Amino acid sequence: MAKKTDDFEGINFEIIFSGRSNVGKSSIIKQLTGKNVKVGKRPGVTLKPTHIRYSDLLLTDLPGFGFMSGVKDRKQDIVKDQIVRYIEKNTDRVNVAVLVIDGASFLEIVQRWEERNEIPIDIEMFELFRELGFDIILAINKVDKIKNSELDETLDQICDKLNMLPPWKQWLDIVAPVSAKKGELKALKSLIRQRLHNEKRDDLFKHF
Ligand code: GDP
Repeated sequence: MAKKTDDFEGINFEIIFSGRSNVGKSSIIKQLTGKNVKVGKRPGVTLKPTHIRYSDLLLTDLPGFGFMSGVKDRKQDIVKDQIVRYIEKNTDRVNVAVLVIDGASFLEIVQRWEERNEIPIDIEMFELFRELGFDIILAINKVDKIKNSELDETLDQICDKLNMLPPWKQWLDIVAPVSAKKGELKALKSLIRQRLHNEKRDDLFKHF
């Protein structure tokens, strides 16, 4: 049984979930755990991470970053600071970092930031996870919104932006195209299981 918790005693394995607001992070966690991590209606306004625990495994939902309708820039900076602070404080405990992106809008959003000569926040997070040595999983959500004929090309370009040389299929141990809407999370579940297996924690498979 999963339960929401703030008790970190005896945690041996932590998986963090990070991503900009509205990418479908809560939908993914809901499907993985059956728990509703979203509090309130407005996206991204929660500052505190939410935790779900299965025995000594902790799943952490970090606050959504990036665009938030009706939320001031300053608040967005606070959210980013909170995330970075949590990550840096708990680096030793975190085994796996899942970065969730919206595959259907990622390239357009990145382009918008780049036109302003800014580093897109998703890319910044990905780089931070890399620097901290996290085992990263990139969950590319909302693939149901991408035309089948354009899927490979889109995934190639997304990987390219994150410094993973295309074709994207070279990165199947990192990249998981999913659709929370359609309940298609197989690729993500299998990568999480792979990580658990690497840590000799096949006993936790039953949760995924
Ligand atoms: P969060 O802010 O990242 O936690 O995102 P939510 O889980 O609240 O989802 C944001 C919106 O995207 C909601 O309207 C969801 O129904 C929708 N959504 C989530 N996953 C998918 C998906 O795989 N495909 C599509 N088309 N929509 C999705």
